Amino acid sequence: MFGLRQKLFFGFGGLLAILLSVSVLCVAVLQQHRSWLDQFLYENWRSVEYGQHMLDAIQPLNVIAQTVSGQSGEPTKAELAAATSASTKPLADFDSNCDAEDHNITLSHEDTIATDLTRLWSGFDIDVHTGRQTNKFTSDCYRDQFTKLLSGQTSLSDRRVAYAAIQRLSPLIKTRAQDVIDLNFQNMQPVEGKIKDMADSATRLIVRLAVAGAALAVVFILLMSRAILRPLGTLTQSLEEVAKGNLDQIVHVNSRDELHKLAEAFNSMAANLREFRRTDRAKLMRIQRTTQLAVNSLPDAIAVVNSSGIVELSNQTAQTLFSLFPEQSILSLRDERLGALYQQVSRDAAPSQPRGYESAIEVFDQGGQLRFFLPRAVPILDADRVLLGVTVVLGDVTNLRKLDEMKSGLLSVVSHELKTPLTSIRMASHLLLEERVGSLNPKQTELLMAARDDADRLQKIIEDLLDMGRLESGRVRLDLQAEPSERLVSDAITPLESAFHDKGLTLNVDVPVETPPVLADPARIGHVFSNLLTNAMKFTAPGGRVRIYAQPLDKFVRFIVEDTGIGIPSQHIGRIFERFYRVPRENQPSGAGLGLAIAKEIVDAHGGTISVESQPEKGSRFSFTLQRADQIPDKRETEAKYETSINPHNG
Ligand code: ADP
Repeated sequence: MFGLRQKLFFGFGGLLAILLSVSVLCVAVLQQHRSWLDQFLYENWRSVEYGQHMLDAIQPLNVIAQTVSGQSGEPTKAELAAATSASTKPLADFDSNCDAEDHNITLSHEDTIATDLTRLWSGFDIDVHTGRQTNKFTSDCYRDQFTKLLSGQTSLSDRRVAYAAIQRLSPLIKTRAQDVIDLNFQNMQPVEGKIKDMADSATRLIVRLAVAGAALAVVFILLMSRAILRPLGTLTQSLEEVAKGNLDQIVHVNSRDELHKLAEAFNSMAANLREFRRTDRAKLMRIQRTTQLAVNSLPDAIAVVNSSGIVELSNQTAQTLFSLFPEQSILSLRDERLGALYQQVSRDAAPSQPRGYESAIEVFDQGGQLRFFLPRAVPILDADRVLLGVTVVLGDVTNLRKLDEMKSGLLSVVSHELKTPLTSIRMASHLLLEERVGSLNPKQTELLMAARDDADRLQKIIEDLLDMGRLESGRVRLDLQAEPSERLVSDAITPLESAFHDKGLTLNVDVPVETPPVLADPARIGHVFSNLLTNAMKFTAPGGRVRIYAQPLDKFVRFIVEDTGIGIPSQHIGRIFERFYRVPRENQPSGAGLGLAIAKEIVDAHGGTISVESQPEKGSRFSFTLQRADQIPDKRETEAKYETSINPHNG
């Protein structure tokens, strides 16, 4: 059996052999034609040349003959010597050309002319087959008569007879020489036509050879292709099937070459893959079942959504309460909040920010019970941070929310109940300190002042608690208006300036009049500024500096309150906007941990954001944004929006 290498060798070698054979045959044909032409033209042309040379030689001989002919008397010895010497070359030329012509008889009739010419010239006869001059035929020939003329022995009368013979023989010789020329020329005429015929026949032969060669080559190529390409085609088909996932492919290649080995390797690879798939599939199914059971057992609703918004995996709760069934698009749910959350997380490729209980989604479970779920979403990113999907978790906060509501209700009741007696305590302490009801000794004044300060602080906490309650319940309506940024800030600073001064703090305000106006409820934003500034004052030691300034942005103005105080350790930064959260410190100043939570509620309700950067011992930088009033087309629209956003329970 042949290997692939041998097949390729025979395939290409065969083609090469065909090519070489055709070329060799063509060359042979052309060579044969060429040599035939050479021979043919050469022989005729030589005879023409011999004739011409003979004509050329006889001419000077005739002139020499005349000088020594005795017409003008007996030639002198000197004349004879000169004639002998001058005639040597033409005589030899004629001899040699005449002899050559005798040996170059190629045409019928040419032999008769050559025989005549030889007889007229030298008196010899010739053998037409060999061209040899045979026996002397006659002495009445040009050469013998000429020789007589050159001899000093010849008498004057003999000389004249000899010259007369030369005059008679010369035209006969010239005529025969010319006959040689003409006969051979005539024979060369039809050669042109013959050449054309030969070219045509050569072309026909070459074309036939080329066609035969091409046909042979095609047969070769077909045979070789069958031998090589058929097994390759079978292999390719099988590979395509494997690529589609059909691993039950077995390739049969009958040849015993490399392709057979390749087919064997392929079959063993497919067998290995089948084995892998069997074990992997079992493992995958086990993992999938376990994952599904684990996810189902959670009270929270969980769904894994792919990058096209289609639910890939979800648990029982997600399916029954939120219709998050596998294959369902999260964007086509009736409750658009989950779709919006998915879109936001896919766009930002960052987890959603946890929100308060007020943003929980309310649903009735199968038993008709109202339940609250807090939605959160986390993006699933690959190593290159390309989004693969989003995990949506709806935490069941029904109980927590109930507790929160109870706590808020309790706080509200307690605050209200405390507020009235506290107001009378504060009023009483103020009246006593103003000595409206009698004078006080220094010890009494000191005790009363401490009581008044504590009552004031308590009042502030109760105010904060009530504010928080109101904001949470959505009872607060914002009175939004376009406010000059500079006035908002200066209104907030004025009541606190003396306190800053008393504590030995420098307060720098850098909000120019040309800062764009913002859309704000002045009283509420005043509260935010007041909280931030009071905190800055509380947490900055005397001698420190507090700076308040503004940065206009595209659609917002950012307000910044910066201090050089004690700062906030990084582990607490993420939580300080939570309600009741306070950074644990030695010498904790008074407060309920509500100020920043209230500030955040207010800023959020305005459509802005609040944030903090801080470094312990270096200081803190609180900033929040408010919408620019000069960039909002319709104020009423905006108001409507914020009225809704401050009261999530309505949504
Ligand atoms: P409180 O009303 O009790 O001050 P806040 O909500 O205003 O509560 O602040 C929460 C916590 O954040 C505070 O306990 C305090 O430790 C920290 N904090 C707030 N502002 C600053 C500041 N400018 N510098 C350092 N710590 C601050």
